[in-house]
Amino acid sequence: MKINHNYQKLEQSYLFSNIAHKVSAFTAAHPEKEVIRLGIGDVTLPLCDAVIKAMQQAVSEMGHKETFRGYGPEQGYDFLKEAIAGYYGEQGISLDLHEIFISDGAKSDVGNILDLFDTDNTVLVPDPVYPVYVDTNIMAGRTVTYLNATAQNGFLPLPDPAQKADIIYLCSPNNPTGAVYTREQLKQWVDYALVQKALILFDAAYEAFIKDPSLPRSILSIEGARKCAIEFCSFSKTAGFTGTRCGYTVVPQELTFEGASLNAMWLRRQTTKFNGVSYIVQKGAAAVFTPEGQKQVKANIDYYRQNAAVLADTLREKNIWFTGGENSPYLWMQCPNQMDSWAFFDYLLTEVGIVGTPGSGFGKNGEGFFRLTAFNDHENTKKAAERLRACL
Ligand code: PLP
Repeated sequence: MKINHNYQKLEQSYLFSNIAHKVSAFTAAHPEKEVIRLGIGDVTLPLCDAVIKAMQQAVSEMGHKETFRGYGPEQGYDFLKEAIAGYYGEQGISLDLHEIFISDGAKSDVGNILDLFDTDNTVLVPDPVYPVYVDTNIMAGRTVTYLNATAQNGFLPLPDPAQKADIIYLCSPNNPTGAVYTREQLKQWVDYALVQKALILFDAAYEAFIKDPSLPRSILSIEGARKCAIEFCSFSKTAGFTGTRCGYTVVPQELTFEGASLNAMWLRRQTTKFNGVSYIVQKGAAAVFTPEGQKQVKANIDYYRQNAAVLADTLREKNIWFTGGENSPYLWMQCPNQMDSWAFFDYLLTEVGIVGTPGSGFGKNGEGFFRLTAFNDHENTKKAAERLRACL
């Protein structure tokens, strides 16, 4: 038996274990000091009422012979796909139900989609980035070429026409930088992909945080994208489903490469290797798109947005350069006084008891930067803002 040796090429990530270790050492040494966590990448508000009611109803259906459901369609129930198509329709994007695939979340789909591609492809991945894009390619035996996201380009790298590409990862609003591509910038990526005959893998996990109506929430709202882009989305950050698990991927029918339809290939992949998301969870996800569901999930997103605004105001007041915080739950700040990411982490923890995430953990261009998140509660976020004001 031979193992997949590509796993040995993966770099160990000690980011979150190092953070946990440093925080527990600090709290053990200073039990009297209160630590505020602004490193949280998970939601903290509970599922909204409309979702809970829909799931309770679905649980009850499962308990009666007449309404019990066994295996569902691998690609998801029509009632959820119709709700998603309606949501895209509000943005002027028309989707066929066959283009929507329901899954247990964006992370699985982002990794699993690689089943469709040959090892020999040039893969462009932004740096800094959500680490899953890089690691899933390494596991599959691919090397990646990095797109430099820097303060100079506002952490929104644009295509270089001289650079060859086959697969391009874009994430907007971005994790970790919170930066959001404009329509014009996404159009440049779409045009470039069409010329290169490349495929864009667009991660829209944070689309619901966009409040500026001029910013695109979906790459499929850009002309030409249906010929070159797959979109991944999730209920995790939109509706608090991080522990409930549901997401969806849109694979347009027009996507053909070497004469093969990616939509047909993904359907084949999913029906072979995946048996669908639970009926109960899909019923909960569909409730997100009802009028009450929309009102309730938007209220939760607003709650996080207010936290982001409090942190953004503080950084502005202190003249600290940052991206994000407006159309995203993340703020990506430059470390003051040329401190490196870990030195700033130690400084914030020991001086004012704030925990964030060192930017260097997301790629080499993250060095000298720091991620704060808006997922804590109002009270703690306000308290953290006062502490930041005092120490920056
Ligand atoms: N994509 C990005 C950019 C993320 O930050 C995350 C989670 O943090 C995911 C995808 C994963 O989402 P899901 O919970 O749907 O697997």
